[in-house]
Amino acid sequence: MTKALALFSGGLDSVLAAKLIQIQDIEVIGICFASAFFGSKNAEKMAAQIDLPLIVVDFTEEHLKMTKNPKHGYGKNMNPCIDCHAMMLNYAGNMLGELNADFLITGEVLNQRPMSQNKKSLGIVQKESGFEDKILRPLCALNLAPTQMENDGLVDRTKLMGISGKSRKPQIELAEKLGIKEYPSPAGGCMLTEPQFAKRLEDLYKHDMDNAKPIDIKLLRVGRHMRISPDAKLVCTRNEDEYKLLQGLLKKEYIIFDTADCAGSTAVLISAGGKIPSQEDIDFAGSVVARYSKEKEKDSVRVKYKKQNDPEYKYMNVKPAGDEEIREVLL
Ligand code: SF4
Repeated sequence: MTKALALFSGGLDSVLAAKLIQIQDIEVIGICFASAFFGSKNAEKMAAQIDLPLIVVDFTEEHLKMTKNPKHGYGKNMNPCIDCHAMMLNYAGNMLGELNADFLITGEVLNQRPMSQNKKSLGIVQKESGFEDKILRPLCALNLAPTQMENDGLVDRTKLMGISGKSRKPQIELAEKLGIKEYPSPAGGCMLTEPQFAKRLEDLYKHDMDNAKPIDIKLLRVGRHMRISPDAKLVCTRNEDEYKLLQGLLKKEYIIFDTADCAGSTAVLISAGGKIPSQEDIDFAGSVVARYSKEKEKDSVRVKYKKQNDPEYKYMNVKPAGDEEIREVLL
């Protein structure tokens, strides 16, 4: 029996692509990727809906490394979609032999994304994947030259689609026709495509790229982030949930700030490359913590701070920072 490996994110396009091949009586196995920027939850849910066996590949380290210097650059935000797709296809291509599969499929749609899914970019992805002749794009196949798989009769080209462009209407109609009822609302991609997250990631890579690890990426999702000097960043929690999340992401070199006499935000001061922060940065961090406390209207607020393993807190009295000062450094 013919067998295909489908890149499967769980987004509607990947579901439709897999389903279009399944209904040709071709065995399909979904391959989903997990990294610091996306996980497998959606894929697992959607694979169950269409009876698709799913393999989750964690390529966190290699993917993170690629995002720091993508050969083909970034899209609108920090999304290196061309390199990312090529990397996924390369991983999946290398699994063809061990899974005894014949070819790869993806849910890419011609011209759906102006930079990463135009004809030229699809060609680059295909070439750089290392499996140029093994890639079929069922949703837009009719807009592309027939593949080897179609020429060899493994796949019936007349049952493939010629979708092109940004409109989601053809996919929604196809989902209805194929009986796919519940699917995630179309998002623009993974978190690398989100403007605010991208701004924080860009800042991290600019100031401390070599030390950026998956745990640092997780922290980008928590609290308010402020670039207070070239060597120092401050992260302030906004609520109890963020405080709990922060506890799991602390490093021993971070300096932790809290107000001493009232409730307020907890903050961590992070120095690029583990450098010792300047007194100016420490003072400003204290003033921000004072601003996000119950005593923010006072002229002077007592703030305590220490590294996690320090036996005792240090104390300072600071004037709460002004909103304008904070706006200037907010990421
Ligand atoms: S949106 Fe994210 S996961 Fe999708 S190709 Fe782009 S970088 Fe990769």
